[in-house]
Amino acid sequence: MKIFCIGRNYGEHAKELGNEVPDEPIIFMKPKSAVIQSHTPFYYPEFTNELNYECELVLRISKNGKYIQEKHASNYYNGMTVGIDFTARDIQNELKAKGLPWEKAKSFDNSAAVGKFIEVTPDFNKKKINFSLEKNKEVVQKGISDDMLFSFDHIVANISNYFSINIGDLIFTGTPAGVGECVVGDFLEAFIEKQSLLTLEIK
Ligand code: ZN
Repeated sequence: MKIFCIGRNYGEHAKELGNEVPDEPIIFMKPKSAVIQSHTPFYYPEFTNELNYECELVLRISKNGKYIQEKHASNYYNGMTVGIDFTARDIQNELKAKGLPWEKAKSFDNSAAVGKFIEVTPDFNKKKINFSLEKNKEVVQKGISDDMLFSFDHIVANISNYFSINIGDLIFTGTPAGVGECVVGDFLEAFIEKQSLLTLEIK
């Protein structure tokens, strides 16, 4: 099982971190050991002093494929949820400044929180999907799939040019503006529309 993540897929988020808007999807990966399910305690990692949440829509791959055409891509996923791409922002900034890979900042244990999946039909991605994150019962991030620079189908097709995709793989499709810090004691809850799909407590 692989976890693909798309960086800077919302223009406003790219800007808030001072990054350029990309002209093709930015792909990075997390290992299986990064997955943490809803209702599991999240332990604040020792190596960071700036843990950020990034709330994202997550696709679940339902069919094996490679070199998938964009027009067929919607046949390759059947589930969607909200996830949190936890990021050690201080570590990431250090690595970026040195031009080094991001893994230590992005791919550590429990850095890929995944909510409960809802079923998607092949035309689901044409709808505008609203999602949001609350921290301690206050909305801190709000997104709509319409604002993605690269659509779900474009992402799936693009990834499959470089990596085979397999049943059960996950794709974090990028975060909207509003990323921020979380600290020990925070309670995070993520939604698609009004449906609560993910809750986590930072310990
Ligand atoms: Zn992200």
